[in-house]
Amino acid sequence: AKRKGKNQYCVYTEEMGVKEVRRMELEKDLPRALEDDQFHLEYQPKWNVKTNSLYGFEALIRWDHPRLGVVPPIEFIPVAEENGIIVSVTKWTLETACKQCYEWSTHQGLNQPVAVNVSPSLFQTGTLYELIKHALDQSTLDPDKLEIEITESMMLHDVEDIIRQLNRIRQLGVKVSMDDFGTGYSSIGLLDTLPINAVKLDRIFTQDIEKPSKQAIIQAIIVLAESLDLDVVAEGVELEKDIDYLMKLGCFVMQGYYYSKPMKFEHIDEWASQREA
Ligand code: C2E
Ligand code: CA
Ligand code: CA
Ligand code: CA
Repeated sequence: AKRKGKNQYCVYTEEMGVKEVRRMELEKDLPRALEDDQFHLEYQPKWNVKTNSLYGFEALIRWDHPRLGVVPPIEFIPVAEENGIIVSVTKWTLETACKQCYEWSTHQGLNQPVAVNVSPSLFQTGTLYELIKHALDQSTLDPDKLEIEITESMMLHDVEDIIRQLNRIRQLGVKVSMDDFGTGYSSIGLLDTLPINAVKLDRIFTQDIEKPSKQAIIQAIIVLAESLDLDVVAEGVELEKDIDYLMKLGCFVMQGYYYSKPMKFEHIDEWASQREA
């Protein structure tokens, strides 16, 4: 049985599970989190094995909750999407990523772009272009050092409108990649009409890469991507053998724990210099 604090959670009903209670807490605390600067970004490198050089970084958000500790994005991003706070969260993420990328490009001589994850709901609000423009202006970051990662699920909405928004964003010089490609609602048929630069192979393919059926899918995606002049980035690369398989299949940009877990901004410099050595 569940222990109950003395009158502490009287607004919660008894049937609620621990999960629901936690979710409600997160929902309640989210507006405050932005004001109190409780978010930080971690960065995970994408490595080009063909040129043996850095391809870029992906920015991943973390919430340092005062009581609950670090809350992962899969837990609070859906909450933020539901109550609309995702717009302010994305604004913060874009501004912070641009500012920090500008810093590592000027102080550390790293010239690779930073990629920011963008929820489908941002396209529904139609505010994304303005947020990006503002973050670039404020940071003075070169637009081609910024990339956004979008997901296939946004294609469930007005595709023509999304293409229009993406085109405006790309006209700034910003790059676009399709995240988690090959899962869920698949936009294979849309790949040639979408204004994108790269596809990211979902982690499920890397996990099961010994399976011939998975290899066949990866190969098909790579052939398709190449014919459309798109880069292919593999996610969830953890082991040496993953890299061997992926290279054999024609994929040369890797992201995953094998290279590095997402790291704090302060650690990028050290990681990069170790990598060069
Ligand atoms: P994603 O965009 O697919 O990000 C990749 C996730 O896989 C990250 O989890 C990363 O830490 C994890 N990962 C990286 N390499 C490996 C590996 O080798 N093995 C395994 N098992 N996992 C690996 P994270 O940081 O918890 O993020 C989860 C999801 O939350 C992201 O999935 C993304 O959809 C979302 N997210 C993260 N940051 C943001 C953000 O700023 N805005 C929005 N809208 N969504 C975000
Ligand atoms: Ca902070
Ligand atoms: Ca991503
Ligand atoms: Ca992904």
